[in-house]
Amino acid sequence: MPQSTPRKFERDARKLAGPAHLVIGHSKIDSEGCHTTAPIKKGDVVVEYTGPRITIKQADAFYDDHPRTYLFGLTDGKHVIDGEGVAAFINHSCDPNCEADEIKGRVWIIAARDIQAGEELTYDYNLYDGDLDDPSPCSCGADNCRGSMYSEEELVRRAKAFRRRSLRKKKAGRARA
Ligand SMILES: [Zn+2]
Repeated sequence: MPQSTPRKFERDARKLAGPAHLVIGHSKIDSEGCHTTAPIKKGDVVVEYTGPRITIKQADAFYDDHPRTYLFGLTDGKHVIDGEGVAAFINHSCDPNCEADEIKGRVWIIAARDIQAGEELTYDYNLYDGDLDDPSPCSCGADNCRGSMYSEEELVRRAKAFRRRSLRKKKAGRARA
C-alpha cells in the first residue's frame, strides 16, 4: 500500500464544505471516500472539483515525492486543478456511478446513473502520464476492473514503453558483454 503523505498545502476545512449530503468517511476502496446521504438522479451535477489552477510544471515541482496527489488534468494539457474540496475525496472506480466533465475550464462531477443514499461516489480517473515505475493499482473491486487506475489508452502506451525499455536493456546488456 502506498503511504499517504501530507499535502503541500494544509487542507482548509472551510473549503471542504460541499453540499450537505456529501460526507467524507471510511471507504472500502481506499482509506477515505465521499458518500452521499441523499439519493442523486442520473445527470445531476453532484459537486464541482474545486481548487487552485496550477501548471503541470508547478505540480511536478510541488508533488514530485508525493505518491498521493489530488490533481485533475485539464484538457488544455498545461494546467491541473489542485483539488481541495470534497470532490478530491471521490475515489476511482472502473465501474463508477459518476463521471467528470470539464465545461469551460471548470470540472463537474455528474451522476452517471441514479445513485442511492449511502452509496460511495466514484468516477473513472483515467490517469495518464504516470511514471513507468508507478503502476497505480486499482482496488475498486468491480467485475470489469482494469487492475489499474490508468486509462485504457495509457495502459497501451505504458505496455509499449515497457517493451521499448526492456529492448533497451537487452541492447545495453549486449554492449557491455
Ligand atoms: Zn478497478
